[in-house]
Amino acid sequence: MPILRIALDLPLFTLFDYTVADDVPVVVGQRVIVPFGKRQLLGVVWERGAESSLAAGRIKPVTAVLDDVPPLPAELLNLLRFCSDYYHFPLGQTVLAALPARLRSGQAVVQKTAVFYGLTPLGAGLNLAEFPARKMVQRRILARLATGGAEWSALKKLSATAGGQLKALEKLGYVTRVAGCTPLPPSPACGGGEQNTAHSFASAHALNAEQQTAVDAVLACPRYGCFLLHGITGSGKTEVYMHLMQAALRRGVQVLLLVPEINLTPQLEQYFRRRFAEVELVSLHSGLAEGARAQNWLHAQSGAARIVLGTRLAVFAPLPQLGLILVDEEHDGSFKQQDGLRYSARDVAIFRANWRGIPIVLGSATPSLESWQHASTGRYHLLSLTQRAVAHARLPNIGCIPLNQTPLYEGLSPLLIAALEQRLQRGEQSLLFLNRRGYAPVLMCTECSWVSGCPHCAGKLVLHQKDRRLRCHHCGQQQRVPLVCPSCQHPELRPIGIGTQRLEATLQARFPTARILRVDRDSTRNQGTWHAMRQQIEQGEVDILLGTQMLAKGHDFPNVTLVGVLNPDGGLYSADFRASEKLFAQLAQVAGRAGRADKAGEVLIQTAFPDHPLFRALCAHDYVAWTKVLLAERAQAGFPPFVHQVLLRAEGLQESAVYEFMHAARTAARGLNMSVEVYGVIPAALPKRANHFMAQLLVQCPSRKPLQDFIRAWKPQLDTLPSKGLRYALDIDPLGF
Ligand code: ADP
Ligand code: ZN
Ligand code: ZN
Repeated sequence: MPILRIALDLPLFTLFDYTVADDVPVVVGQRVIVPFGKRQLLGVVWERGAESSLAAGRIKPVTAVLDDVPPLPAELLNLLRFCSDYYHFPLGQTVLAALPARLRSGQAVVQKTAVFYGLTPLGAGLNLAEFPARKMVQRRILARLATGGAEWSALKKLSATAGGQLKALEKLGYVTRVAGCTPLPPSPACGGGEQNTAHSFASAHALNAEQQTAVDAVLACPRYGCFLLHGITGSGKTEVYMHLMQAALRRGVQVLLLVPEINLTPQLEQYFRRRFAEVELVSLHSGLAEGARAQNWLHAQSGAARIVLGTRLAVFAPLPQLGLILVDEEHDGSFKQQDGLRYSARDVAIFRANWRGIPIVLGSATPSLESWQHASTGRYHLLSLTQRAVAHARLPNIGCIPLNQTPLYEGLSPLLIAALEQRLQRGEQSLLFLNRRGYAPVLMCTECSWVSGCPHCAGKLVLHQKDRRLRCHHCGQQQRVPLVCPSCQHPELRPIGIGTQRLEATLQARFPTARILRVDRDSTRNQGTWHAMRQQIEQGEVDILLGTQMLAKGHDFPNVTLVGVLNPDGGLYSADFRASEKLFAQLAQVAGRAGRADKAGEVLIQTAFPDHPLFRALCAHDYVAWTKVLLAERAQAGFPPFVHQVLLRAEGLQESAVYEFMHAARTAARGLNMSVEVYGVIPAALPKRANHFMAQLLVQCPSRKPLQDFIRAWKPQLDTLPSKGLRYALDIDPLGF
């Protein structure tokens, strides 16, 4: 009997052997149900063999072979194998983590293929006015289809007899099923022969010279090539993507477009859908219902979907004819998963493109230092867009307001207040950026300097004034605001620092007639609220918009002519060496919100360090200069991108156990005597969270290969250390500390 080696969702680095009857057809990549102890688990067939190292009597037969969906293709299995190896995460868990939840369960995944209908040229040529009036239903169907293709589910609502009438129209040659929604036959090879599908896409802008150069460079690349598209906000990167996608679709290949979490707004999806209305586009992100996600995944796999638009998890979508990968905002932290399989979707996408031999484009106004460094050494090809695409759109004026020279009114400098006033008079919108929600970050006793610490975390309880509560933003702990100091019973407790709620109150008091809107996670908690708010903003129902980084990303507010940044200095001298890189990217993005339309924008940054190179570069719109400063710093400190890192994280309820484990791990690391640099054990940036103590240990090396060799030797040792009551994980290429 054949032996199947199965990948199971278990924290073990092995495959599991099962038998299957000779006459049961089963192939690699197929999903199966197998007995495991008392449970039945879903697994994926990884290999087929004739023998097993287990004694014959100990091998159990598989319970069921699932054939409701096609097997996972070899390319995907290969990609998952790479991820498991590179991130040192168990293969089975890697495989199962990549699948949509529906495919991870034993329930049958019913593949409902939506059937679309459209008019044939003959049908489109009909004059409905002359169509026999008594054929009411047929007329209705034709009229409906004249406005565009429609799904059967929509057509059947037109009449109870729609089915028969539709068939009649098909017979007459007026109506046909529209391709693209029934699975296409698999094309022989990706990027192969010119298929020249006759798509005519919705009107595109004529590219400017820089855009054209970028598009030409990518199109001239018939094999793997990694392109870094560096373009200031508004320089037309999206337009470059569109042209590349268009060319790829014409060639008959599938396109994968990865975008950061927050950017996947219905707007963006609509934008692409409208532009590529003739082809099927599916999205893949965690906001989709399970059924829809499985459907979209299967459409990607069948080749029906020509464009997949998704967040990081979409990098694992099976795409048999994949011919182009685009990663928008490649520097964005949301491409890195922060638990479980801690993969970087950007890096996995690059691996995938390389393995497939296709081009990949990474786009950003503020590329990550890693990508920039690769571009400067020639590993990536740099493509630059240095001008705003719309001729009259000027770059905003960015300036700093030095903080130590001016008295502040509740965190607002007189200059900023004057600028706000001016916008109100002119009927223009302003945006204030403050990356701190709540009323005040902490409450303090004026007598004994008691502060509102969280009993379960190393963080502080944030004051939320509206419901008079103190809340921990790390563990969710909350309590009523005490009337007197819990420590000395003094009646005066003072909110220290400024959060978005406090700023909102200040603005309301200062500008009583202004329409003020706060956008942060508290004010947008209910589904759809943020969407409604965006409409309010677009329709000019808001004068002053204030909020956290939710406001910074990917939304165009054409009437905003003033952006004020309130408290950015925390990012300048942080313990996290990437903090200033992130800060620059974030501020460049917020600044990009100002004056995108034909109104010039102004950006005012309140800072105690106006001469810091970060602000100087930001004011000069000079990403390159800033990157030079950062790279010099990193080279000197021996930090990425000049080294590669792995971070061991551990947490547990018992502080001593956590540190004992970590010290033993460090001893083991040093004992291996390999050419890597082993740092000391230190508490995590937040040393305690929800009663768990958290520590970390950094190991680094100038090149990847020796670091990987080291991890391969170290990991088995870690797994033998006493770790009862602890959780630990390796984070390869960690982003946050
Ligand atoms: P980015 O993604 O780089 O921020 P977008 O692609 O959103 O920039 O382009 C900014 C604006 O410029 C959009 O309104 C877009 O329609 C317009 N645009 C892009 N390319 C061109 C072009 N070649 N000619 C005219 N307008 C353009
Ligand atoms: Zn007190
Ligand atoms: Zn807490």
